[in-house]
Amino acid sequence: MLRDERSVVTGRDPSRSYDIAVVGGGPAGLTAALYAGRSEKRCVLFEAKAPGGQLLNTEVVEDYPGFVRVEGCELAAQMTEQATRFGCEMVMSPVTRIHVAADGMKVITTDDGDWYAAAVIVTAGGNPRKLDVPGELEYAGRGVSYCAVCDGAFFKGEHLAVIGGGDAAVEEGLFLTRYAERVTIIHRRDQFRALPVLVTEARNHPKVDFVLDTVVEAIEGTPLGDAATPGKATLLRLRNLKTGERRTLEVGGVFIFVGFLPNTQLVDEHVDHDPGGYYLTDPYTMMTSVPGVFAAGDVRAQLTRQVTTAVGDATTATLAATKWVEERAKGVAGPSGAAA
Ligand code: NAP
Repeated sequence: MLRDERSVVTGRDPSRSYDIAVVGGGPAGLTAALYAGRSEKRCVLFEAKAPGGQLLNTEVVEDYPGFVRVEGCELAAQMTEQATRFGCEMVMSPVTRIHVAADGMKVITTDDGDWYAAAVIVTAGGNPRKLDVPGELEYAGRGVSYCAVCDGAFFKGEHLAVIGGGDAAVEEGLFLTRYAERVTIIHRRDQFRALPVLVTEARNHPKVDFVLDTVVEAIEGTPLGDAATPGKATLLRLRNLKTGERRTLEVGGVFIFVGFLPNTQLVDEHVDHDPGGYYLTDPYTMMTSVPGVFAAGDVRAQLTRQVTTAVGDATTATLAATKWVEERAKGVAGPSGAAA
């Protein structure tokens, strides 16, 4: 009802007007689509590439309840099938902008034009943080990688460096042992953010060693050329932060896992966020500081970013968004957009 009435007044294309729009098709977005569909809300999900998000870069998942061990792409395929079973539409087009129209409707701009929704759930994930040292960009795709599952097989028998001390670095470092002759994890401290169970597994692995309290100052390699002779990263310049000592390390490749930058720049309006750019959300509803804009998954400030937390947050966000849309349609939403 809300959708059709508004369309008449605003001239918006009713076929592009929805109750709930979901931006991003990772585990959080697919969960939001599932719950919005089951709530019988008119829902559309936008995904720039293939649905599945980071699951598509994860070889095996062992910490998603109900699946003792499942390939990331298999879990993504099952989530996608389930998400669309209840009627949520999927649009394969990157979202370039979200803004709030004067009447409160959210306008979602894609390469394929504008779409409209009473509420938006942002589940757009993010991108790997760069190390920001000389040689990193030049040798990206030429021995420098941000995805072990995607690129590991290209480095059979090599000595690989992994940069970082979080879950991603240690987990991906362990994954790379299946190809590499040796994996050296280089971390700027001697304490790890990674789960202790992962660190213990890495410490006990015969192919893994650690260089701690150390940063990479530069990545060097053979001369950069054209497609025929592209050049390749072969050397890291390292500095020990405690002793100041500088040294070099010859490598066959370097995998960088130093964190994640959330895709939280899409919304035009100011959205309250933490210093890392992650959206701050109401813990009961997952609503951001912008009424009707909800967030779930890796864009949201939280203690940890797991598939399990992403799908849990998306469940909360979608049920809250559903209620918010229904109350707004009945005219019972307060001035802040919260139910009066
Ligand atoms: P993270 O936990 O933020 O760890 C980033 C690591 O990179 C930290 O060790 C940090 O060092 C280091 N670092 C940051 N900037 C650096 C720089 N400029 N130079 C050198 N080192 C730098 O990021 P993440 O490992 O990508 O994980 C992100 C989230 O995804 C986490 O919540 C994690 O739990 C989750 N995750 C979960 C799994 C899983 O469930 N199995 C797998 C992967 C990721 P400091 O510690 O010194 O800050």
